[in-house]
Amino acid sequence: MSAGRIELSPVRFDERAQRLAVSVLQSGQISQGPMVEALEARVSAIAGTRHAIAVNNGTASLIACLRALGVGRGDEVITSPFTFVATVNAVLAVGATPRFADISSGTFDILPDSVEALVNARTRALLPVHVFGHPADMTSLCAIADRHGLAIIEDAAQALGAAHCGRAVGSFGLGSFSLYATKNVTTGEGGVVTTDDDSIAQSLREFRNQGLNAQRESVGFGLNLRLTDLQAAVGLPQLDDIEETTRRRTENAALLSDGLTDLDGVIAPSGRDGDRAVHHHYTLRVLDDARVSRDALQAALTVADIASGVYYRSLVSDLPHVNAATPRAGDECPSARAVTTQVLSIPVHQHLSGHDIERIVRVIRDVST
Ligand SMILES: *Cc1c(COP(=O)(O)O)cnc(C)c1O
Repeated sequence: MSAGRIELSPVRFDERAQRLAVSVLQSGQISQGPMVEALEARVSAIAGTRHAIAVNNGTASLIACLRALGVGRGDEVITSPFTFVATVNAVLAVGATPRFADISSGTFDILPDSVEALVNARTRALLPVHVFGHPADMTSLCAIADRHGLAIIEDAAQALGAAHCGRAVGSFGLGSFSLYATKNVTTGEGGVVTTDDDSIAQSLREFRNQGLNAQRESVGFGLNLRLTDLQAAVGLPQLDDIEETTRRRTENAALLSDGLTDLDGVIAPSGRDGDRAVHHHYTLRVLDDARVSRDALQAALTVADIASGVYYRSLVSDLPHVNAATPRAGDECPSARAVTTQVLSIPVHQHLSGHDIERIVRVIRDVST
């Protein structure tokens, strides 16, 4: 018995987005213009930063952040092995060496002790990932960065609107967001850097535009990383709705967790007290003592027409191109490695109905008890 497919990250644009897109088409201003400016104003308000600089995707925004801080060859950047490959590709793109700290198996973020153990004279920056929309432990990471004089770049690609101890992610260091199709707010492709630093903001605006300043004079090396007004336009209504989207996702996560308590070996995701997560993914852990394996649980969901995903099936530190380019990589991360065999992300998005949640819970309970 199927009541229609339940998707993991559906993309829906309402009439407001359609109207704005048509207005861009009619305006004749199709590349970076007033819609991009409006998107930047909304993101800087959400992140609580003086500046937001839109770029063409979240990988470009990470690369722009690293370049803006002067991170390059010979520098080490400490990050998570349990992330989307873009995080580490950005580090490699600027010629720096990624180092990998182990993660908490409860909250999936890098462990401060593991980070501090990797710090050495070549370390330039920390690159924590707010994975699945849960803030990393920024209090501890900022303390480490302060102690050792390190920069912080937050990979907040999955976490627009999240906050740690009342402070928005993207405001602790340079913030890097993605507006890719699967993210909580999407323009198809897109990225945004957030910062309070006026001179870094200016250099980022120049870098995304061929190294041209506001007077269109060349002031250095740059690339074309511009977002288009057509893309920005379809993101504006979603940015206006972000509180409501996060409220629904938070409510859905709570309903799933209520429905999935008391299952042996099936662990619901947990956040840190005082943090505000945006629930990009709702990621279960299926342990060895569960009645069902992770893969069998995923198969049961597939049969019931419920989409799910394994994020992440392997560590980015194990990828051949990462090892080849970074002889110092291969840092042991036993918790992260164990987690890759346990995780399963199930739908939590804002378009789920109460009935959808009941269906998801029922399928999981049926095979887990
Ligand atoms: C999506 C994502 C990125 C990259 O963003 P793109 O817009 O796809 O380039 C980087 N890091 C993480 C953790 C992501 O999830």
